[in-house]
Amino acid sequence: MAKTIIISNRLPVQLQIDNGTINAIPSVGGLATGMKSVHSDGQSLWIGWSGLTEEEIPEELEGEIDKALAEHGSSKVKLTAAEVDGFYYGFSNRTIWPLFHYFLEYSEFELSSWNTYREVNQKFADAILKEASEDDIIWVHDYQLMLVPQMVREKRPDISIGFFLHIPFPSYEIFRTLPWREEVLLGLLGSDLIGFHTYDYERHFLSSIRRILGLEVSFNDIYLESRIIKVDSFPMGIDYAKFHNAAKDHEALPKNKQSDLQRRLNTHKESTPDAKFLLSIDRLDYSKGIAKRLNAYEYFLNKYPQYKEKVRLIILAVPSRSNVPQYQLLKREIDELVGRINGELATVSWTPIWYFYRSLPFDNLIDLYTSCDIAWLTPIRDGMNLVAKEYIATRTDKTGVLILSEMAGSANEMNESLLINPNNFEQIADTIHRAIQMPEKEQKERNSVLQKRLERYNVEKWANDFMRSLTEQRDKDPTYV
Ligand code: UDP
Repeated sequence: MAKTIIISNRLPVQLQIDNGTINAIPSVGGLATGMKSVHSDGQSLWIGWSGLTEEEIPEELEGEIDKALAEHGSSKVKLTAAEVDGFYYGFSNRTIWPLFHYFLEYSEFELSSWNTYREVNQKFADAILKEASEDDIIWVHDYQLMLVPQMVREKRPDISIGFFLHIPFPSYEIFRTLPWREEVLLGLLGSDLIGFHTYDYERHFLSSIRRILGLEVSFNDIYLESRIIKVDSFPMGIDYAKFHNAAKDHEALPKNKQSDLQRRLNTHKESTPDAKFLLSIDRLDYSKGIAKRLNAYEYFLNKYPQYKEKVRLIILAVPSRSNVPQYQLLKREIDELVGRINGELATVSWTPIWYFYRSLPFDNLIDLYTSCDIAWLTPIRDGMNLVAKEYIATRTDKTGVLILSEMAGSANEMNESLLINPNNFEQIADTIHRAIQMPEKEQKERNSVLQKRLERYNVEKWANDFMRSLTEQRDKDPTYV
């Protein structure tokens, strides 16, 4: 029977080795949830890196690890520490990530990392080739694996391959600076269908295809030799029901069952009922604009001093890629900024910024989403930004204001939020003022529209739409029998 093979850098399960016993725990992230309908029992296989390097896996446990992964329909690609370094921390996160997020000055063009990226992509392709049989459908995910489609196509021209990019695709002027631009484009063109979050990313990609490879493009079809490759946008949604229902359950909790975090938030709300909580949640990444947001917050408090002691900014920065130097520098910059702003503006009864540098469990995220009056998410560049969608999904009484950067992919679907340019401090200060003053009726009107849309375009629909389009593309192909 035909199956679907899903390939991503990381698997949807996390391995834990406890006293020689292996546990594979399913991840709760958006991708794993969204793929549930595609990654169903017996009909699909998920191939990825386990998160442990070859050096970290004792030989005698190999078999057991494979067995534990197989129980979750998964199979691992083995990577050495040196490969993870060159492929993941190197080319993926020091070249492609900054370049595709328009941080050209952070992009390193190292031949050795590129070579490792190619070798590791070949390993992933080989793992697919070992498993793929006729009629199987392959779905490759994200910027770490852009060469895989072509590597598979070379050996198996008959197979149906889809690729989805979870980050932005930059404009031609940025992309053209990559020394290996042709190879990356040709790698992607091994696919039958290439998906992006937004129409803009799709347009940028097609423009690079035309100008770098000189290929014929008609609407969203690319003509390459005898093949037609379709390009389309599929904005990724969230598991709306999960967030909405969690918020409902959370609100029904008796006081003695509430978390410590929730109790502390309540205490502050009760002591200053007219004060507002502003929430900002991101991975600690330069593309998220956290330092800029802190400076904008100080600007706002100086422009509207009446809000001193009346607003609190909760910043949750989730540790990320902390062995890449740019991320270490950023961490230091944010620590210092929070310290300086709190030091300069705090009073005996008020701390302007509450800063958490950690990842919080799901229940605590819900505490924050449901307790904060305003979510303030202002990435400088973001492929999608799911936090914005999650915040709206948890507002069961439809109150709350979302201030969102125009540079986030999700802004395209969230026009009813207050959209801002993250570099315009004047506009940001005025927008926070407007959000604080926004009548409840207006908040509810905006959020009802947003909630309806997010509920309909949830993550399951995203996965199903992509799969449907890939199957249609295969059925249209005259060479496919
Ligand atoms: N998140 C989490 N733990 C935390 C904070 C956030 O699991 O402590 C989740 C959050 O619910 C969201 C994801 O991390 O689903 C972040 O996704 P987003 O698209 O906003 O940004 P990314 O990190 O993928 O760039």
